[in-house]
Amino acid sequence: MKILLVDDDLVDREAVRRALKAQTEEKELIEVSSAEEGLEITNKDTFDVVLVDYRLPQINGLEMIARLRRRPNLGNTAIVMMSANDDEQLALLCLQAGAQDFIPKTEITATKLRRAIAQAQKRFELECKLYDSYCRVREMAETDALTGLANRYHFERELATSITENVRQEKQLALLLLDLDHFKNINDTYGHETGDNLLKTVVKKISDCLRGEETFARLGGDEFAIILKNLEHGTEAQLVARRIIKSLEKSMMVDGQNLQSGVSIGIALHPANAENAEELTRFADIAMYRAKSQGRNRLCYFEDVMQQQFSRSFQIELELKSASHDENFELYYQPIVRGMNQKLVGFEALIRWPGSKLESYPSEFIPIAEQCGLINGIGKWVIKTAIEQLSIWQKQFDRNLSMGINLSPIQLADNQLTKYISHNLDYYDVVPESLVIELTETALFSESEQNKSQIDELDKLGCKLALDDFGTGFSSLSHLVNYPIDIVKLDRSLLPESPEHQRHLSIVRGLAEMAHTVGLKVIAEGVETSFQLLLCKDLKIEEIQGYYFEKPKSATGIQAKWLEKATTD
Ligand code: C2E
Ligand code: MG
Ligand code: MG
Repeated sequence: MKILLVDDDLVDREAVRRALKAQTEEKELIEVSSAEEGLEITNKDTFDVVLVDYRLPQINGLEMIARLRRRPNLGNTAIVMMSANDDEQLALLCLQAGAQDFIPKTEITATKLRRAIAQAQKRFELECKLYDSYCRVREMAETDALTGLANRYHFERELATSITENVRQEKQLALLLLDLDHFKNINDTYGHETGDNLLKTVVKKISDCLRGEETFARLGGDEFAIILKNLEHGTEAQLVARRIIKSLEKSMMVDGQNLQSGVSIGIALHPANAENAEELTRFADIAMYRAKSQGRNRLCYFEDVMQQQFSRSFQIELELKSASHDENFELYYQPIVRGMNQKLVGFEALIRWPGSKLESYPSEFIPIAEQCGLINGIGKWVIKTAIEQLSIWQKQFDRNLSMGINLSPIQLADNQLTKYISHNLDYYDVVPESLVIELTETALFSESEQNKSQIDELDKLGCKLALDDFGTGFSSLSHLVNYPIDIVKLDRSLLPESPEHQRHLSIVRGLAEMAHTVGLKVIAEGVETSFQLLLCKDLKIEEIQGYYFEKPKSATGIQAKWLEKATTD
C-alpha cells in the first residue's frame, strides 16, 4: 500500500510513522510538509491513501482535498483528514470536500489509523460504485433508449439553459420541431419492429445533416426537436431544415423493405418570436402543424414575414426545378455603345423567366438557382443561346459585335466549363475574342485554385474577362492585378444623378482613373441621363450601357431597332 502523508509538524509525522510501522502490512510511506508539495507529488504519482493534516502553512488541508477531488486523474485514492481538534463541524466539512474519513490527531494509534484507512478505502469504493450507477441512471433518465438521442426531459432542460445563454449572447436561437409524415401507416403496415428500425435510420440521416454541436432530441413517437444556437439570422435555420427534408426524400432500405418517410418541420425563434422555452415550443408546434396541413414534407416558420420570404423562395426553387430551359427562359440583350460616338459595339445577354408564374427577376432567382445547384444547367443554356445569337448577328450584320455573358462563381467550379464554351464557339463559328465573360468579385474572392485555373483557361482561350458590378464589393486592386481581367464594369449605383453629388462624382472619377492606369477598359453600366452620358465622355469611359440607350430586349426587338435599322440607315 502506498501512502502519502501531508503534515508540517515533525512530531505528528513521527507519530503517524510509528503507528503505521506497528502494522504488519507492507507499506510505502512518502512524507511532505505542505499542501503545495502534496498536490505536486500526487500529480506525478498515484497513492492508495492520502493522509492530510488540516492545519497546513499556506493552503490548508480542506482546500487541498477540494483541489485533489477536482482532478479527473486522481484514480482510486482514498483521503483521510487528520486534525488536532475533534470538531464535528470540521469533520463534516472534510467529508463534504471529498475526504472519506476524519481522525483527530489525539486518537492516532496503530489500530485506529489502520481502521480509518481501511474504512476510507471501503467507503471510497462504495462511492465510486454509487457514482457509476448515478451516471447510468442519469443517462437512462436523459436519453431515449431506442435512438440514443436526448429525451424530452433532457431536451427541456437544454432548451431552458440555451435560452438563458442566448439572452446574453444576443444571437438568434431556432427551435425546430420535426414530425415524420405518415409514420403511423408504416407501423401499422410493417409492424413496430420495422417502425423502430425506420426511426433509427431516420435519426442517422438527420444526424448527418447536423454539425454535432446541436441538441437533437426525440420527444416521443415520431416527434423530434433540434435546437440551433448562435445564429446571426433566423433564415439560417431553414438551411438545416431543408437539408433534412432533402435527405429524407430518398427512400431507405429497412428490414428488406424500401420505405420512405417525409418530415414536417416547424421553426420558431428566440428572441424574435418568443421569450421563454414554453412559448417557443408552443410556437414551433403551431408552425409544425401548419407544415403538415400545407401538404407535409415541408418546413414552416412561425413568423409570417419570414414564412412569406421563405415560401416565395421555396416556390421559386420548385418552379426552377421543373422549368425546362428552352421553354421557360429567354435571353434578353442590352446594347453596349462606344463612349466617343455612341456606335453599337455589342450586347450583354441577360436572362429572363417569362414562364414563371411568380414573375421573378434574375436578381432574385439566380441566387436561388445557385443555392439549389440548378445554376450550372441554366448557365450552360445561357452560354449556348447567347453564342448562337451572336453568331447569327455577326454573320448577318457585323463581325465585330461582342457579347457579354454573366457567369456565376459556382459555374467556375465546373472543370468542363471552358471546354463547353470553346466547343460552342467552334460550333457556331465565333472567335473567342468576341465573348466577354462577366465575373463578380465574389468569384475572384473565393481564391480557390479551381476558380483561378478556370479563369486562366478562359483567358488562354482568348475570351475577354470583365469584372462586373465594380465599386459595389471589395473593389480590391489585388483582384485587378492578380487576375487576367481586361474590362471593369462600373456599377450603376456609382453614377451620380446630378453634378451636386460630389462624393459620387469623385468616387467614379477615382475608380475610372485607377482602372485606366492599370490598362483596363471601362464600361459604365446603368447610364440613364444625358448628364451621366456627358460625365462618361469626360472620364474617357470607353463603353456605355444603360436605359438612356436601351433597356434589355428580346432578340427580335433588338434586331429590329439596333441591327436592321442601322444597316438601312
Ligand atoms: P448585371 O450583370 O450587373 O446586369 C445589369 C443589370 O442592370 C441588368 O439587370 C440590367 O437590366 C440592369 N440595367 C441596365 N441598364 C440599366 C439602367 O440604365 N438602369 C437600371 N435601373 N438598370 C439597368 P437584370 O437583367 O435584372 O439582371 C440583374 C443581375 O442578374 C445581373 O446584373 C446579373 O448579375 C444577373 N444575371 C442576369 N442574367 C444572368 C445570367 O444569365 N447568368 C447569371 N449568372 N447571372 C445573370
Ligand atoms: Mg453583367
Ligand atoms: Mg453589373
